[in-house]
Amino acid sequence: MKRYFIHTFGCQMNVNDSLRMSEVLGKLEYRPTPVAEEADLIILNTCSIREKAEDKMLSALGRYRTVKLARGTLLGVGGCVAQQEKDKLLKKVPYLDFVFGPDSIAKLPDIIGRVQGERERVVETAWVDSEEYVFPRADPETSRGKVTEFVTVMKGCDNVCSFCVVPHTRGREVSRAFPEVLAEVADLAKVGVREVTLIGQNVNSYQGGVSFAQLLLRTAEVPGIERVRFTTSHPHDLSDELIEAFRTQPKIMPHFHLPVQSGSNPVLKRMRRDYTVVQYLERLEKLRAARPGIAVTTDIIVGFPGETEEDFALTLELTEKVRYENQFSFIYSPRPKTGAALKEDEWGPVPHEVKIERLERLQKIQRRISGEHTASQVGLEVEVMVEGHSRYNPAKRFGRTPENRTVNFEGDAPAGAFVKVLVESATPNQLSGKQTVVLSQPVVVPPADLPGPDVSCVVADVA
Ligand code: SAM
Ligand code: SF4
Repeated sequence: MKRYFIHTFGCQMNVNDSLRMSEVLGKLEYRPTPVAEEADLIILNTCSIREKAEDKMLSALGRYRTVKLARGTLLGVGGCVAQQEKDKLLKKVPYLDFVFGPDSIAKLPDIIGRVQGERERVVETAWVDSEEYVFPRADPETSRGKVTEFVTVMKGCDNVCSFCVVPHTRGREVSRAFPEVLAEVADLAKVGVREVTLIGQNVNSYQGGVSFAQLLLRTAEVPGIERVRFTTSHPHDLSDELIEAFRTQPKIMPHFHLPVQSGSNPVLKRMRRDYTVVQYLERLEKLRAARPGIAVTTDIIVGFPGETEEDFALTLELTEKVRYENQFSFIYSPRPKTGAALKEDEWGPVPHEVKIERLERLQKIQRRISGEHTASQVGLEVEVMVEGHSRYNPAKRFGRTPENRTVNFEGDAPAGAFVKVLVESATPNQLSGKQTVVLSQPVVVPPADLPGPDVSCVVADVA
């Protein structure tokens, strides 16, 4: 029996793609291994959102070359770098056996067959037409024993943000038909999942037969599902209907990730984000009125071409004004074929040391604000869905509040239970405390007839 290993870089969408790859490979003569050195097939599922992610994957490829030399392991690259580089990657990495894009996961058996049988080096990066695209259906057995799971509702992106490589690597937006999404959610609920996160690059523009707000409301009605989340949203598609769904359906969790990218209108314009700071703030105000206490998080890029000290000061000002629960902040990284990379010289590149210095200033402010949010929870009892034991201290339990705050606590409730936790201390990133009341026990799930795919081979290197 041959063995395979998948190293995943990037976002949750890539992790999901790796799980689907693992399900496809499980139907071949391959079995998973969590140890790359023992693998006969290694796949790197790659991310190209920033240069750093690409560099990381190239250095990992170098390490896996040694495994290939030692045992003749097949090496393949999938995901966004594969889609971007295509056959150039085979030229650049002469020991690579195959390259396949995000639309070619179902073709893996054929690709591997050609590499093994015909000793061909294969490149499969064609897009499947939107009308013909079939979303891989997750095998629910992959999720048995988990209480929270991700469900793909869209792929690709039709926006043209000038910094972003996603439209080049993931293609046009395609929405998954809503009955398919609901069927997958129902399958997951049957194996014990109680929380789902609907994922796509820009879920607010979902067009799978109902509006995104309707999709959330219907997902919340699936028996067994107690919590519904989603990511990611573009501010220009944040509709009144979606805001209304937050008001009326308590199972939609009070957390909204709304990437703003910058607090300066001229920068937003060059980024082609098509909203102003005032419009963004108006949307947020409406959202907060509909769901008081909702936690808001965001993404920020610092050092975008032409960003002046005044522009950056506006980003700091916005950070203070919104009082984000948390921010994911990145230094701008020019990406191939993107509008901003082509115009960088014209707009004025920001020196690397300035980018680093701005990032540190921003992160310092955000750490303080995050700390103030979490400190405000000390002494309160919060509701937590238990996800398992704490990663740092196996004697403790781990879960999240509705606002998506992580909680490590003393208690004995099993994964899938809902409990109250008295918060005793906090850091900017987490709350700590002890379980006081068990609100509900997990759903009892009948054992599987057959074991599900083993995904211990999917190692994530998520940014
Ligand atoms: N679809 C999401 C949106 O519209 O906000 C973003 C998805 S992207 C995978 C996640 C984040 O990566 C972006 O929000 C942005 O902050 C960051 N990002 C994208 N391209 C970048 C670049 N070239 N340099 C630095 N950060 C970048
Ligand atoms: Fe990239 Fe998000 Fe803009 Fe689409 S909406 S181009 S994924 S940043």
